[in-house]
Amino acid sequence: MTEEFGLFIGGKWVVPAGAKRFVTKNPATGEELGSFVSATEKETTQAVDAAQAALRHWRELPAPKRGEILLEAAGIFRRRKDELGAFVSKEMGKILPEGKGDVQEAIDFVLYMSGEGRRLLGETVPSELRNKYCLTLRQPKGVVAAITPWNFPVAIPNWKIAAALIAGNTVVFKPASTTSRCGVEVGKVYEEAGLPPGVLNVVTGPGGSVGRVLTTDPRVKAVSFTGGTDTGRQVYRTAADALKYVHLEMGGKNPEIIMDDADLDLALDGALFGAFGSSGQRCTATSRLIVHEKVYDKFMEMFLKRLTTFKVGNPLTPGVDMGPVASADQESKVLEYLEIGKKEGAKLLAGGKKLKGGIYDQGFYVEPTVFEAKHGMRITKEEIFGPVLSVMKVPSYEEAIRIANDIDFGLSSSIYTRNVNLAFRAMDLLETGITYINAPTIGAEVQLPFGGVKNTGNGGREAGTTAIDEFTEIKTVFVDFSGHLQKAQIE
Ligand code: NDP
Repeated sequence: MTEEFGLFIGGKWVVPAGAKRFVTKNPATGEELGSFVSATEKETTQAVDAAQAALRHWRELPAPKRGEILLEAAGIFRRRKDELGAFVSKEMGKILPEGKGDVQEAIDFVLYMSGEGRRLLGETVPSELRNKYCLTLRQPKGVVAAITPWNFPVAIPNWKIAAALIAGNTVVFKPASTTSRCGVEVGKVYEEAGLPPGVLNVVTGPGGSVGRVLTTDPRVKAVSFTGGTDTGRQVYRTAADALKYVHLEMGGKNPEIIMDDADLDLALDGALFGAFGSSGQRCTATSRLIVHEKVYDKFMEMFLKRLTTFKVGNPLTPGVDMGPVASADQESKVLEYLEIGKKEGAKLLAGGKKLKGGIYDQGFYVEPTVFEAKHGMRITKEEIFGPVLSVMKVPSYEEAIRIANDIDFGLSSSIYTRNVNLAFRAMDLLETGITYINAPTIGAEVQLPFGGVKNTGNGGREAGTTAIDEFTEIKTVFVDFSGHLQKAQIE
């Protein structure tokens, strides 16, 4: 019997009369993981009502006290790490160690934000006038919306929720429909941690109707969105009419450059993990490998040999390297790109098909695929978001950087070289929000800003010292204790 869940509104799990429902399924086995309410605009508006009603009390609670609740939440995530990690693996298909890693990233970030309750730094600066004091304060924006994708179903919601809460905002959280179970479990953790009613609300349901309310209701002051670039554009446009603050984290097409002096074994480990970890469904996944011609043949021989030992299977089975892709939609998209690659003349070096037979028939398993491609082909420019790697041979460092940058996205990049001069130049030249030297394109740490340039983002950064920027307004305050009217700039 599939477990049924309601919407978390005003501190209660509610099931609206006559609610429509949808289920989520394990992409590895087809097992149902929960039945969820498909919220309408009416219920989403009720969630905004609840968040608005809770705002005054929450923002007036001293930030260190808010931090104590987050600390409690981090402890619950820690206690439930194995269980929640398994939900992540079951609901979107990444292997269990990566599922637990997803939860660990949430724990790290919630802990980090709980400490932020004792900082929320402003500035004090001198006044140009005597007996006058100038400072800035950080204030919450108000009710904020968190709209998240399915690929990090515990970590990404927490990046938004914990940063928003510590700053004194209240939140309406809409998880990706594909991973609603993980979304609901995140809500339950904060409920258990003792968050006052209405401070966090969880609304499951379609991006269209739930998203419309969250991007148009004038009481929602900020929308924090992570997802695909087309959806992000739509969110941006819709929210523009109400002049909402919108933070967008979107797609990637991340290159790993391998220079002729690179440690090839190290580069190989990085490329495999970067390309096929989470079935290539990380926004920072390595989807382009740009290899210097002097080491190309040797490196590709090593790479393809290692790939023969790569195990695809149920993500909960120990020893499996890669699980299925997350859903039927993901599978069709990836298979379509495999055909596009073949049609545009890319040479298939490995994989290229849906896996069939045995357990593969129960889920959405695609072979890890490697194409030898020419820069400019669609498979080298469009985000596939699956286990598909395009490899390109280049004659020089300059050409490697040019190709790496000749793309609409700009999230992550990586270069393997032992030449410190080339490494430092690459840090500057690569047009991405994140660059790794001698490490794969993946590996975010919560104490550092995360985000991208070009079509990947609209200028903000999550996590790190920037985590609370998207959720705070800066208030400038002047305190004049001179006892008479003083005029700035006017003599
Ligand atoms: P989508 O863009 O399809 O969905 C993201 C979220 O937006 C979901 O919750 C979705 O709801 C919701 N949504 C859909 N339509 C609307 C709408 N009109 N208004 C408001 N919300 C809407 O992305 P995916 O979930 O498929 O995630 C994959 C994408 O996310 C990839 O492109 C990946 O690169 C990107 N991503 C970017 C990251 C970054 O930090 N740069 C990190 C992780 C992923 P529903 O599920 O109900 O459709």
